[in-house]
Amino acid sequence: MKKLIAGNWKMNGKFGQNTALLDAVLAGLKEKPPTCGVAVCVPFPYFVQVQDYQDRSRDESGNPMLSLGAQDVSAHEAGAYTGEVAASMLKELTVSYVIVGHSERRQYHGETDQLVADKTKAALAAGITPIVCIGETLAEREAGHTEEVVKRQLAAVIHTNGHCISEIVVAYEPVWAIGTGKTASPQEAQAVHAVLRAQLKAATDQFARVKILYGGSMNAANAASLLAQPDIDGGLIGGASLKAPDFLTIIAAAQN
Ligand code: PEP
Repeated sequence: MKKLIAGNWKMNGKFGQNTALLDAVLAGLKEKPPTCGVAVCVPFPYFVQVQDYQDRSRDESGNPMLSLGAQDVSAHEAGAYTGEVAASMLKELTVSYVIVGHSERRQYHGETDQLVADKTKAALAAGITPIVCIGETLAEREAGHTEEVVKRQLAAVIHTNGHCISEIVVAYEPVWAIGTGKTASPQEAQAVHAVLRAQLKAATDQFARVKILYGGSMNAANAASLLAQPDIDGGLIGGASLKAPDFLTIIAAAQN
C-alpha cells in the first residue's frame, strides 16, 4: 500500500516562517519525488499560502506531491454554528485531508466518540479524506485498557459510517506519546495496528484500502523502524513536521 506522511502543524506558524519551511519541503520533494503521499494539515489562515505550494508541487501527471490538509471540521453542513467551518467549505479550498478527533480536541474541546464519527461522516460526504485519530491515555495503557479504548473509538466511527469506512485513514496516536518525546516502540505500535486492522476487516471487505498511520513523537531517528512494521502505513507527524530536514527524512523513510 502507498504510505502517507501527514504533518500536523497544530497552532503554529507565521507567514514568513511557513514560506521558509514550505520552500525547503518543496525543494526536497522536487529533488527526490516521493512514492508516498505527503500532506500538511495547517491552521485555516494558511490554506491559501499552502495551496500555492500544492499547485507548484504538481508532477508531470498533474498530481500534487504536497497536499493541503485541515486540522478540524464541523459535523454540520451549514447554519448557525459560529466559528465552525463546514467540510464543503474546505473542499472549495482544495483541501484533501482533514484530521478529526485529535486527542487535543478530545481533551480540550470535549469531543466525544460520536462527534468524531459525525465529523468523519461530514468529511466523507464532501469528498475529503478524514484522518481519524484514536489512542489511549497513559492511565488507560497502564490499566491494561489500550485495546478496549481504541476499539471503542474506532467502533463509533464504523457504526456511523457503514461501508464508507473504507475511505478513511486511521491514525493510532497514543496520547502519552504526543509531543512528549516518548514513542511507542515499533512492536507496541504494531500490536495495536494489528488489532485495528482486524477490526476494519470485520467491518468491510475493502479493509485493505484503509491506511493506519502511527503518530506520537515520530521523528527523523525513529521513523524508519516504525514504518517498517507490516501494519504501519504512514505517520501523522507533529513537531518534526515543522523542521524541513526532519520532515523530509521521515518522507524518505516511507518510500515503498
Ligand atoms: C500530533 O500532533 O498528531 C503528533 C503526533 O505530535 P508529535 O509528533 O509532536 O508527537
